[in-house]
This record gives sequence, C-alpha cells and structure tokens, in this order.
Amino acid sequence: MKLPANIRENVSLQAMNSLGIDVSARWYGEATSGNRLISLLDFADEEGLETLVLGGGSNLVFAGDFPGLVARLAITGRRWEQVEGDSAILVLGGGENWHEAVLYAASAGYRGIENLALIPGTAGAAPVQNIGAYGVELKDTLVSVTVLDRNTGSWRVIHCEECDFAYRDSVFKRQPGRYVITELRLHLSRSAPLTLVYADLAGYFDEQEIPALTPLDVAQAVMAVRRRKLPDPQQMPNAGSFFKNPVVPLADWENLKAEHPDMPGYPGPVTAKLAAAWLIDQCGWKGFRNARVGVHNRQALVLINHSGGTGADVLSLAERIRRDVQARFGVTLDMEPGVIPAGLTPGY
Ligand SMILES: Cc1cc2nc3c(=O)[nH]c(=O)nc-3n(C[C@H](O)[C@H](O)[C@H](O)COP(=O)(O)OP(=O)(O)OC[C@H]3O[C@@H](n4cnc5c(N)ncnc54)[C@H](O)[C@@H]3O)c2cc1C
Repeated sequence: MKLPANIRENVSLQAMNSLGIDVSARWYGEATSGNRLISLLDFADEEGLETLVLGGGSNLVFAGDFPGLVARLAITGRRWEQVEGDSAILVLGGGENWHEAVLYAASAGYRGIENLALIPGTAGAAPVQNIGAYGVELKDTLVSVTVLDRNTGSWRVIHCEECDFAYRDSVFKRQPGRYVITELRLHLSRSAPLTLVYADLAGYFDEQEIPALTPLDVAQAVMAVRRRKLPDPQQMPNAGSFFKNPVVPLADWENLKAEHPDMPGYPGPVTAKLAAAWLIDQCGWKGFRNARVGVHNRQALVLINHSGGTGADVLSLAERIRRDVQARFGVTLDMEPGVIPAGLTPGY
C-alpha cells in the first residue's frame, strides 16, 4: 500500500468530537483543497475503506472506533461576490468555522445569518441538517453549494431548491456519504429585516434598549442568550440538542393539549411542533446523571458526557429517554446527531 503524504494511521478523534468520546480513526487525513480531498477519497476507494467526512464533530455520536478513513474537510476561504446595492453573495469554503463566518458577515453589516451565531462546526456541515436557531434556518439565505458527488466522481453545483431542505433535514442528510460539500454561497443583504420573533431574543433587547439594531447586535444577543442556556462543549462535552422537536398531526396536538393543558407547542395549518425539552423534563430526566453521562440540569435536550462516557453510554441514555416519552405521551423522539455505528458495514 502506498500511503499518500497527508494520511496518518490510528489517530485519536477525542478532541474532534464535541461529546469528547474517546475513539480513533484507523486512517485520518485533512482535505485542505479539492485535489487533496480527491487524493484522500482515491486512497479509500483503492483500499476498500469506509469514509467519513468530518467537520467540527459537533453533531455526531461515535459508537466505536472508525475502521476506515476519516477525511476532515479543511478547505478554508471567504470572499464577497456580486456586491450590488444592499446585497451580496458570501462565498465560504466548507472548512470555514461557521460562527466566525457569521461574525464576519454581521461585522460587515450584512444580515441573514446573525441568528445562527455560536452554532459550532463548519460551514460545509451547515446544509447537512439545515442548521437553525431563533427563527432562522440556513435555507433562508443559501443560494447553492459546490459538492463532490461521490456516486459520479464529479464536481457539481446544487442550488438551494434541489437540496430538499426541511426542519433539520436535507438531501445531504438523507444520502449520507454521497456529497462532500466544499463551498457554500449565501445571499445576504444590508437591509433585510432582522428576525426577533423569539421571546428570549426580543426580551434581551427590552433589557438593553438598543434603538437601531445592527446584525452584529443581534449576533451578540444570540451569543449571550445561548451562553445562558447551553453548556459549552469545552467544559461539558455535548452535541447540542440531542432530539429534534417532534412534529405531529394537528389532531394529535389537540388531543395532547386537552390531556396536558400546560404542554407548549407551535400549531400550524396541518401539523404542530412540540417542545422535546418539555416532554423530557416532564418525564423527570432533566439533571439526571450517572457516573459517566447525564442530562443537562438547565436544558433537558442536551446530553452530557461527564466523565469517560462511551458512545454506547450516551445512546443507551437516549434510548431510555425516548422510551419514557413514548410511554407517557405516545410521541416518538428522533435523534438529531448522526450515529457512527461500531463495527461498520458497507453503506452505513
Ligand atoms: C453546543 C451545541 C449547540 C448546537 N446548536 C445548534 C443549533 O442551534 N442549531 C443547529 O441546527 N445545530 C446545532 N448544533 C449541532 C451542530 O453544531 C450543527 O449540526 C453543525 O452544523 C455541525 O457541524 P460540524 O462541522 O461539527 O459537523 P460534523 O459533526 O463534523 O458532521 C455532521 C454530519 O455532517 C457531515 N458533514 C460534515 N461536513 C461535511 C461536508 N463538508 N460535506 C458533507 N457532509 C459533511 C458528517 O459526515 C456528519 O454526517 C449544536 C451543537 C452543539 C455541540
């Protein structure tokens, strides 16, 4: 076997996943350019290895060591294009740090992604689950992504309409491993309305009394609100929200509401979104901990790796929570992070 220069063997991934799970990759390489990405993937194909494209590791649970090749997407770069009047296109390399890109755009006075401040991870992973927070989703500003399509081996531009975005979902999540996102284009504007629909955010400005808000003000408010509510993975390893907010038919919501009048929910014309954190809290899980893993004591959606927890520890806690919520409310919780199973089989 001829080892390409940028590939290493048996590399710890503990510092590369925000749950801090102590696993390793049999092979590991960093793709700092399109050509490097291709050389890594060629090596994996020649050796018949499973591959995992890794960003910041903030939305993954490793159930075991990864026996194939982990390719960390590290293509950086940001630039403005088509700057016309109030609007511009921000082009980001897939390996750019997402939060820094948000601050970069907001500091330049461009609006559109400021509510997505402090979401950990890379720009390239942002379309995978259509990241969202405080009433804004990536799809609201995404124009297109540049991908390497591993089925055809060719580069493609995929436009927003083709990404089939939904709540924490996209074509990239539904076809794992097929597309490697190397660049995104976002349409931002200096005059777009700011989104302050969430009470936490609007409340922050009541306290601050800022008359003419800039996108940077909003990004900073989002950061302050998030820091109050969410644990920092550097101090308490976690993967953010562990479950999606369940979406149920309107009739189910009406029955649930009749039975549990305090239940929060966001009814639409045909479905209603429930608050997964409330359901988990009602089952008594908030603040639970055993020797290794637990549930955050202020935010029931966040599972914590307190001390040496394995992927199996985290997943078994998640399963106990899911069972309780199902038994008490008849509602199924879906996990938000992707699981990298132990003992991979082809096409995992
Ligand atoms: C404290 C905390 C708070 C969070 N808050 C939010 C939030 O408010 N909203 C929200 O939506 N999410 C949130 N998340 C989840 C997470 O930050 C996002 O999903 C983020 O986009 C993941 O980026 P990443 O680079 O870490 O991806 P990774 O965890 O490395 O990868 C996630 C998935 O994307 C794939 N992937 C990664 N990069 C690429 C690429 N370039 N091309 C193709 N596939 C790729 C991986 O193979 C994997 O399947 C939070 C996480 C944490 C830890």
